[in-house]
Amino acid sequence: MSIKVMNNMKKAYEKGVLIPAFNAAYPEMIKPICDTLKKLDTFGMLEVARPDIEKFGAVSFTVVFEEYKKYGNPDFVSIHQDHVPVIDEDAMKVDYIVLLEEALGLGYDSVMIDGSRLSLDENIRITKQVVEMAHQKDTPVEAELGAVLGHENGPIPPYEELFNSGRGFTKPKDAECFVRETGVDWLSVAVGNIHGAVTGAAKDDKKVAAKLNIDHLKKLRDVTRIPLVLHGGSGVQREYILEAIKNGLTKLNIGTEIRQVYEKSLRKTENIEKAQEEVSRLVEYLIVDHYCIKGSKSLLDN
Ligand SMILES: [Zn+2]
Repeated sequence: MSIKVMNNMKKAYEKGVLIPAFNAAYPEMIKPICDTLKKLDTFGMLEVARPDIEKFGAVSFTVVFEEYKKYGNPDFVSIHQDHVPVIDEDAMKVDYIVLLEEALGLGYDSVMIDGSRLSLDENIRITKQVVEMAHQKDTPVEAELGAVLGHENGPIPPYEELFNSGRGFTKPKDAECFVRETGVDWLSVAVGNIHGAVTGAAKDDKKVAAKLNIDHLKKLRDVTRIPLVLHGGSGVQREYILEAIKNGLTKLNIGTEIRQVYEKSLRKTENIEKAQEEVSRLVEYLIVDHYCIKGSKSLLDN
């Protein structure tokens, strides 16, 4: 199975096909995500991050895996362990090995180590260690370089200011060295994308309409030559994503948008099925109308 997702990512990268990765902030979101991908003949990922578990209702990597096994058809959806931070958004040290071992033991198709809050050297050292550990199980690894802000407590600088200054953007020189030294399979980069807030009142707010610096992305593509990942897909303006797909973007994480739709509907109707329908509807809209990737499964198979 892990081999399959590795191949799909490689093919998607070569063909310029986007693989959407949907975060399950609640176990009940898993069925509508899996069903919709299959219905639309689209390959995507179901993923769960530590913040989904700690700050929302995803419960645990094990619970999410069990739900995935119930509803996910591996031809259409793989399961990815998103964000296992070494240092988390609250500046706490995380026992990342234990969390990775949990996912690898269960049979997650891919995992992510996030050492982006470390120095470059430390990020390389730890990512390399995780790559060795995961590759023993033929499991690909995603890592992060640069600062995809937004998960932190407290205010972040105004978006335009951040974007124009390029502060926190992944540096091409660092990326080249990072990929070479670690052997990582996919790289999450920062080129203007930001995470949705996970704490406080802001977690219910609509995200800013983020932009991407496409020239910067091209530089990263040229030096890394591996599939690139964007976190914080919700809220990035569509034309930027479509342009990014032509320039090395292969996996797009979509979390905030679908979580908010689920939570809002549940608050209003107190009906899980209705909230699940809202998730299905949004996932379908994103696949068909927004990113235009309906039928990507057949495209990747050929
Ligand atoms: Zn992320």
